[in-house]
Amino acid sequence: MADKPLIVGITGGIGSGKTTVAKIFEKMGIPIYIADEKSRERTATDPRIKSYIQETYGDELFDSDGSLKRKALGEIVFPDKDKLKALNEVIHPIVAEDFKEWLAQQNAPYILKEAAVLFESGTYNDCDYIIVVIAPRELRIKRVMERSGLTREEIESRMNHQWSDDDKIALSDFVIRNGEDDALMPQIFEIHEDLKRSTNSGS
Ligand code: ATP
Repeated sequence: MADKPLIVGITGGIGSGKTTVAKIFEKMGIPIYIADEKSRERTATDPRIKSYIQETYGDELFDSDGSLKRKALGEIVFPDKDKLKALNEVIHPIVAEDFKEWLAQQNAPYILKEAAVLFESGTYNDCDYIIVVIAPRELRIKRVMERSGLTREEIESRMNHQWSDDDKIALSDFVIRNGEDDALMPQIFEIHEDLKRSTNSGS
């Protein structure tokens, strides 16, 4: 029977490049699970999450065809820590269950689980190893402004809700530098080799 893959968490602040890096690992054959995407998908479709939102906030957060008004929900929960926490307490176990089912189907030495809030949510406790992607703050702001059309103020406000790079580095096993003068590929290859070695050594 094949061994269970190692779980490698990959995180980084907004615009650090964690999705870009995860997609390179995917091209090398490593299965990747994008937790933020799954969470968005499940929030829109899972009947248990839908009932919670309906019971807590009423029908006005749904269109006439039953689809969730994500932006309106975000405007209610993001400014209010308790409301966000309560919603996350409903969503997290459902995404965790989805991840478990997904993991059971993977056949690889290790898998990558990408999450923006890996540390903030406590998910890092379930990872065997952690990679953090870092880049200078100004470069991250520039990249996100180009990609999304968000304003500098909106980006900085999101950054201020996330842990600092130093705090994330302290709890990570690998750091990938994704600044303008950093070559990503050699860093990725080295980590890939290290992780494969860890699997072979039967840890
Ligand atoms: P978010 O938390 O906002 O989802 P992220 O950490 O996943 O961000 P990416 O989406 O991977 O970051 O990258 C942000 C933007 O920067 C993207 O448009 C991406 O194409 C660009 N980018 C990332 N890394 C590089 C790089 N090394 N060179 C050039 N552009 C890059």
